[in-house]
Amino acid sequence: MGDPGRRDADTRGRAPREDEGDVDSIDVVGRQILVVEDDDGIALPLVRTLSREGYEVLRVAEGRAAIEQATAGEVELVVLDLGLPDMDGLDVCRRLRDLGYDGGIVILTARDGELDRVVGLDVGADDYIAKPFALAELLARLRALLRRSSRPLAAEPGGGAPPGASAPGAASVTPLTVDPASRRAHAGDREVQLSTKEFDLLAQLDRHRGAVVTREQLMDEVWDENWFGSTKTLDVTMARLRQKLDDAGADVRITTIRGVGFRLDEGRADA
Ligand code: CA
Repeated sequence: MGDPGRRDADTRGRAPREDEGDVDSIDVVGRQILVVEDDDGIALPLVRTLSREGYEVLRVAEGRAAIEQATAGEVELVVLDLGLPDMDGLDVCRRLRDLGYDGGIVILTARDGELDRVVGLDVGADDYIAKPFALAELLARLRALLRRSSRPLAAEPGGGAPPGASAPGAASVTPLTVDPASRRAHAGDREVQLSTKEFDLLAQLDRHRGAVVTREQLMDEVWDENWFGSTKTLDVTMARLRQKLDDAGADVRITTIRGVGFRLDEGRADA
């Protein structure tokens, strides 16, 4: 007997979109996104827009609920407000990474001044956007994050697209592709032979390509149980990984961010 009228505030609906001119072809339909924002004035239009785009949208207004949701299941992206009633959004972000959440996190900050401070802290977020923001810009950044992370999700073990085929217009370079499903990495069509730890390390960096991954994150994800104390093993493995990528001619570089961690970028260091 429910009123079938539109009530899109908290729905998970995915209305078909009628946009014709969408050049950005990443498929967001059914991808789960968690909006963590206590201000309805911001959350509701955001939820509505994301639903219209095709995302499956969950919304919570508190940090604790956010952690529960994001670590419970299929959430691929989190849009995270900093000023939450029960927790600091930065702590929510750190906590999510500590708990192994490896989807995208975009932090919403109040002002540009705050943005600078927050970015400097490096809490494991992938991107930041200052309020007030244009919805179109946020959508573009979310798609960019999904695109970065969707190779592993889209890859079928043993099947799928040929490695390296996804780099548009790349003829003479050898783009790096990393496929966690089959645990293989390719430079162009040539497989890069990696040890287990080298591969795990690369997969972590690749998942956050273009963003800094902290030493702690890497230690937690790659060495989990027995990393108490020295991270020398990380440096040793990283050196071997760099050497192998370099030898294979992969079109990437791993930059050391002193005192913080590492970042995998497109383009060779000396190119
Ligand atoms: Ca808030």
